[in-house]
Amino acid sequence: MHFTVKKMLVVSAMFMLALQVWATDSAGQGSLLELQGELVQGGMVIGRAPQGSQVWLNDEVVKVTPDGRFVFGFGRDSENTHQLKIKYPNGTEALRELEVKPRDYDIQYIEGISKKIMSPNEEDLKRIRRENSMVAKARAGASVREDFLETFIWPAKGPITGVYGSQRFYNGEPRRPHFGLDIAAPRGAEVIAPASGKVVLAHNNMFFSGGTLIMDHGYGITSTFIHLDAILVEEGQEVKQGDAIARVGATGRATGPHLDWRINWFNTRLDPQLLMSEPQP
Ligand SMILES: [Zn+2]
Repeated sequence: MHFTVKKMLVVSAMFMLALQVWATDSAGQGSLLELQGELVQGGMVIGRAPQGSQVWLNDEVVKVTPDGRFVFGFGRDSENTHQLKIKYPNGTEALRELEVKPRDYDIQYIEGISKKIMSPNEEDLKRIRRENSMVAKARAGASVREDFLETFIWPAKGPITGVYGSQRFYNGEPRRPHFGLDIAAPRGAEVIAPASGKVVLAHNNMFFSGGTLIMDHGYGITSTFIHLDAILVEEGQEVKQGDAIARVGATGRATGPHLDWRINWFNTRLDPQLLMSEPQP
């Protein structure tokens, strides 16, 4: 088993710059629109507008909470320019150009993956498709929970061994980029909920991801935890931030025990590390 992190990302440096920036609207609406978060690939942005405002990102409706909050995010390979449109309750509209910073991604080489996992047979492929659609369905629900407004906390303790966005080579073959934040921890170590939410998927044995748990934090934001040894909660269960939800494992396509934590805004994969304002405990 050979596990190399070629170069850790500049994410730690980005922490320093991640001070939450509140920006105002250039259309003279001043403090009517506030955005908090990083305008960077993989970043999540929380907005606030007057109650009753409507919001569109690139002409797609962004759902707004009853008190005017909303959330959106940018994918790994997001375009640089996005348009945010706000229609205020008084009928006036404001257009805001968002400039999203590109990032450089890591390259990671992982050896020792079994042949079965590297070359799934016909039956495995059917199973993979079925599992992919379960995951997609779990992430597609747009509940009106407002847990995403909480300040996220670290779900596990341990060294970071894999970062968001890295291009991965398994046994020398290029594969899809990695979208999780990997935290190495012993098998059986506790995983806690980084924010409150509702369990929308609890599956003990998926082909690639092994023990897989998805939590809904509302308005399209979900957390996914994979390679789990055990899941301590059930589908439909409400979980509070800090509650024990699972145990770290090495199930599925994993070379050693670690927690792989992912954040999505619907289908868009975000970087969990950008949500963390505190350094790791
Ligand atoms: Zn991972």
